[in-house]
Amino acid sequence: MKKLAVVFSSFIVVVGCTDKSKSTVEEVKIENKNTEIVMIKDNARGIINNTNSPHVKLKSIDIGDCQWTEGFWADKWRTAEKVMLPYMGTLLKGDTGHGYNNFKIAAGLKEGEHKGFWWHDGDFYKWMEASMYIYAVNKDEKIVEEMDEIIEVIGKAQQADGYLSTPIIIRDDIEPFSNRKYHELYNSGHLMTSACIHHRVTGKNNFLEIAIKHADYLYKLFSPKPDHLKRFGFNQTQIMGLVELYRTTQDKKYLELAEQFINMRGTYKIEDDDTTVGYPIGDMVQERVPFREETEAVGHAVLALYYYAGAADVYAETGEKALIESLDRLWENVTDKKMYVTGAVGQTHYGRSSRLDKIEEGFIDEYMMPNMTAYNETCANICNSMFNYRMLTLSGDSNHGDIMELVLHNSGLSGISIEGKDYYYSNPLRKIDGALDYDNMNVEFAERQPYLECFCCPPNLVRTIAKSPGWAYSKSQNGIAVNLYGGNKLETTLLDGTRIKLTQQSNYPWDGAVKITIDESKSDPFEMLLRIPAWAKGSKLSVNGKAIEAVTPGSFAKIERNWVAGDVISLDMPMEVKFIEGHPRIEEIRNQVAIKRGPVVYCMESADLPKGTKITDVYVSGSNDLKPEYHQDVLGGVTTIKTDIMIRKDMLDGMYNEVSKPKMVSYTTSLVPYFTWSNRGQGEMSVFLPVIWN
Ligand SMILES: [Zn+2]
Repeated sequence: MKKLAVVFSSFIVVVGCTDKSKSTVEEVKIENKNTEIVMIKDNARGIINNTNSPHVKLKSIDIGDCQWTEGFWADKWRTAEKVMLPYMGTLLKGDTGHGYNNFKIAAGLKEGEHKGFWWHDGDFYKWMEASMYIYAVNKDEKIVEEMDEIIEVIGKAQQADGYLSTPIIIRDDIEPFSNRKYHELYNSGHLMTSACIHHRVTGKNNFLEIAIKHADYLYKLFSPKPDHLKRFGFNQTQIMGLVELYRTTQDKKYLELAEQFINMRGTYKIEDDDTTVGYPIGDMVQERVPFREETEAVGHAVLALYYYAGAADVYAETGEKALIESLDRLWENVTDKKMYVTGAVGQTHYGRSSRLDKIEEGFIDEYMMPNMTAYNETCANICNSMFNYRMLTLSGDSNHGDIMELVLHNSGLSGISIEGKDYYYSNPLRKIDGALDYDNMNVEFAERQPYLECFCCPPNLVRTIAKSPGWAYSKSQNGIAVNLYGGNKLETTLLDGTRIKLTQQSNYPWDGAVKITIDESKSDPFEMLLRIPAWAKGSKLSVNGKAIEAVTPGSFAKIERNWVAGDVISLDMPMEVKFIEGHPRIEEIRNQVAIKRGPVVYCMESADLPKGTKITDVYVSGSNDLKPEYHQDVLGGVTTIKTDIMIRKDMLDGMYNEVSKPKMVSYTTSLVPYFTWSNRGQGEMSVFLPVIWN
């Protein structure tokens, strides 16, 4: 079928977004001023709309198809709806956040100066995107009305040629695309992604028209490959945004441009020029080695993982072997050599790459995993889950799902307070107070902050919580894959268009029992795929009480049969408390262990220690019981791990001290989930603790 670009200013037909029985692809007539164009209009509404992507094994469910109903993620989602998002909106629309003000000023509707960093527009778009995920479930029309008002202002801020980045529009002393540190393409990426999501959820085109006009501007600017722009594509959200726009419009030039941003990287001499002044170059921005030749994850962790996620999106469409080989290599390098036990990435605030380029907020050497000075930006951790979600869809390999889950339950959620209003930028694995004064090195802030001037992380995390139901399931060729566990309802169509409804009941991650009831399905056989996490050894699976053999941790368990309404799948994952140790090459955690139960990593905090105890004096015993206890009234309802620890009483402050047999006292206390740390006042914290094996 012929697919043509569309002038969306005269886009008059909208595909209905509420009728779930519609087929996934249909033709839509678009009237152009001069001619009538028919294009394929994809009716699917996934977070990443890969329904027609030829190189994807697990396809997205539509946004809104799954809703959390009970338990852990339902609580988090509800907090996002009731607290996180409204609070963030108040910040961003007011004078503190100034995000909306910037658009109003750029639109000529308000006097004033731009405030916030160069990438503030992008972070505002993320909040808008999060609002759409919430609307897809709660259908609160006020959200759409508010978005319409904001979109009108954004439209007025957009320049006649399609350019849109408010810090540059407001200032008259800077030319567009004169220095890549202005993050214009980061703003572009979030604009395109947010507009696609808005279109998919509401069926409206007002935001999409702005994104298309902007993307056309980018295409005109970049497709001739002018020499002075070859090093742009810096904080690369535009690759994901362009692919999503291609998927929305079927206009191949957006995919072509997305691929060009990958192809341009690493094809030039690495030296400072006019476009790079004021920011590190080389490995810091992944420009030293072409993507297809890279063997190591380097540079700023957020930049790297947005880049990889974008490359995964391009591969989903092109199927180019060199791309997936590089993606696999980089995934392995990140997850096997440079990732924390919490799923966090980006070991350092400042450092050098193995090729000796200056690095900020990023990757350093393999196995070099400091605890106190770990940077682990919340965005980087979320980008790791975004990358893994994409790899899961490409490969169907459950190990990618394990990492996604690890981030979600640990280094993602640690970025926000239980209440939902305070944010961490970095997520170290240990914090100590006092003489060493690490506060400014590791956590940026000792406590979570109600507003961060660099506001990239908060809306990134809130949009992730808001879209998490969309990650919970995928569609396989003839069935459903269960990626995440938690109480929810799913109502969707299989890829053949037949309806399926199911209910998942679970108190995961506090309990490993999952019950999935088929409420409605086709009568022909289809498969249910259940992710059995690699840690879930001894998992038991049954259908209607009859055991299923061969459940292998670290894979999807496949049950193919004629399902009928009322069929019940039961999965029981043993939730043993486990010690986790690191590879011998990780010097920073030699003779130490982390404590993990299911996907949740635990930590020791000052609030659970005798007053005045230093976290560095705490030891765990290899032989004492580790007892999980659920507490509804603790930290929003969590399972803690009760155990006897040892506290050393004679540690000296000198740099090196003579030691004989240390003096230890026993103390009974509990560890709390890592993501809940620093919700009970200021104190010290550690994930890894020295262990005494008796
Ligand atoms: Zn961030």
